[in-house]
Amino acid sequence: MVTGGSAANAIERVVIVGGGTAGWMAAAALSAHLAGSGVSITLVESSDIGTVGVGEATIPTIRRFYGQLGMSDAEVMQACQATAKFGIRFVDWLRDGHDFVHPFGRFGQDLKGVDFHHYWLRARAAGDRAPLGDYSLGSLLAGEGHATLPAPDPGSQLGIFDWALHFDAALFAQHMRRFAERMGVARVDARIAHVSLWGEDGFIEGLTLDNGARIGGDLFVDCSGFRSLLLGEALGVGYEDWSHWLLCDGAFAVQSERAGPPPSCTIVTARRAGWQWRIPLRTREGNGLVFSSRFQSDDDARDELLAQVPGKPVMEPRRLRFTPGRRKVAWTKNCVGLGLASGFLEPLESTSIALIETGIERLKQLFPDKDFDPAVIAEYNEQSAEEIERVRDFLILHYKLNGRPGAFWQTCRDMELPDSLNAKRALWRARGAFIRYRWEMFSPASWLAIYAGFENIPARIDPAIAGLDTDQLRRSLEAMRRSVRETLADTPTHQEFLEIMDGAA
Ligand code: FAD
Repeated sequence: MVTGGSAANAIERVVIVGGGTAGWMAAAALSAHLAGSGVSITLVESSDIGTVGVGEATIPTIRRFYGQLGMSDAEVMQACQATAKFGIRFVDWLRDGHDFVHPFGRFGQDLKGVDFHHYWLRARAAGDRAPLGDYSLGSLLAGEGHATLPAPDPGSQLGIFDWALHFDAALFAQHMRRFAERMGVARVDARIAHVSLWGEDGFIEGLTLDNGARIGGDLFVDCSGFRSLLLGEALGVGYEDWSHWLLCDGAFAVQSERAGPPPSCTIVTARRAGWQWRIPLRTREGNGLVFSSRFQSDDDARDELLAQVPGKPVMEPRRLRFTPGRRKVAWTKNCVGLGLASGFLEPLESTSIALIETGIERLKQLFPDKDFDPAVIAEYNEQSAEEIERVRDFLILHYKLNGRPGAFWQTCRDMELPDSLNAKRALWRARGAFIRYRWEMFSPASWLAIYAGFENIPARIDPAIAGLDTDQLRRSLEAMRRSVRETLADTPTHQEFLEIMDGAA
């Protein structure tokens, strides 16, 4: 429910522009949040224009997003052809033949107030080569194509991982749409021909559709995709371009027949001038090559992708272009941008849909009234900017630490980093510790997964465990690994897990 503000000042009409993943997620969440408040929500989309049509890998926050709407995992999985995802497997990023998993969750168990990874580092310094992933059930599930639900007891090995979904993004948007329409959201299918502004301040007054109809509103949510029809075009909000840090500026995407049992992770494999994704769905796979046009031609990228797609392609590869970065502000006047309309970072860590979720959550927390108090807008913009900048830093780290040959990868290794990332790396190197900025999407466990995966080891470990008996340490670590392995042995394969979830739907 909306609270605060006098009734006369309360927002009465919300207009969402765009019916892609962002638009329908916003419609579903806002309609649930504002139920009973008298606020009307209208969504305008154009079936002639369509949606971007990609976006199949998520992170665990998606489950909390639809959980808030009363939807169960089993229900969403069935509606969206979804499979389970326990992390991302990075193949060949450090060198050919090398791989590691970034799982959703922690590694090992902290002892006596010292983070687990310091024990791991201490054992490593004494010659123990067991990878960090051996202390994470999530990592092993992802790496070995198994799947299970986290146990409710957070103290057990089973309790310390999380999971997400791979889904058909179009089906997910349809599922959100069904919910939103049941909640009373009105849908208009037409192309927006003109956006009118009013007053000296140039707030958005309304939209003129190509059929001549007009739609007025108090608050506009721009989910119009890369075009950024309201925020970018009508209100002139500029774009902060981060392509000097993230060199990839486009992709080819192709769907293929399923090739073998579905992995329970997203697989991202380093390629000549970028990387390839493989995302298993129930009956098909999503594949794509994200690459830098400075270092690879379209023909070459397309051929490289098609040569490496495991199953038979069922469509022609689709070319997508993007500029990594963000709109200078996510909210101005009476318009909030969500999804591609507010910025884009390549899908290496599946963060776009997650950024839509947090944008919606923030909008709920800071829902304005017709005054559009600058303090509310400033707070929304600050949080949004910090959050996406931290995601940006996390992605840059993957490139910076690569050990691959070739001009693209060398350029990534040589690049100057943002100060915020330099500070993080300095503390990691100096003390194996993590700076925690506000609004970070990725926890220290995720940063650790990437540092350790790239064999980027700090100079010092926690002095509190310097005197630890190494034989005893080795034995306890071995026991921990055994316990994780034993738990893994009792878990179903991913395929069996999907059948169990179907039974629960
Ligand atoms: P869109 O899907 O483009 O929707 C825009 C909407 O605006 C459409 O409904 C369109 O009809 C409407 N519209 C536009 N102009 C008008 C007009 N004039 N009149 C009326 N309507 C209009 N994200 C992830 O989280 N995980 C991933 O694995 C992932 N992979 C990706 C891979 C690639 C190559 C790319 C480019 C993106 C990927 N993303 C991923 C991002 C994800 O696809 C998007 O964040 C998500 O789909 C949201 O898109 P959107 O709703 O903002 O825009």
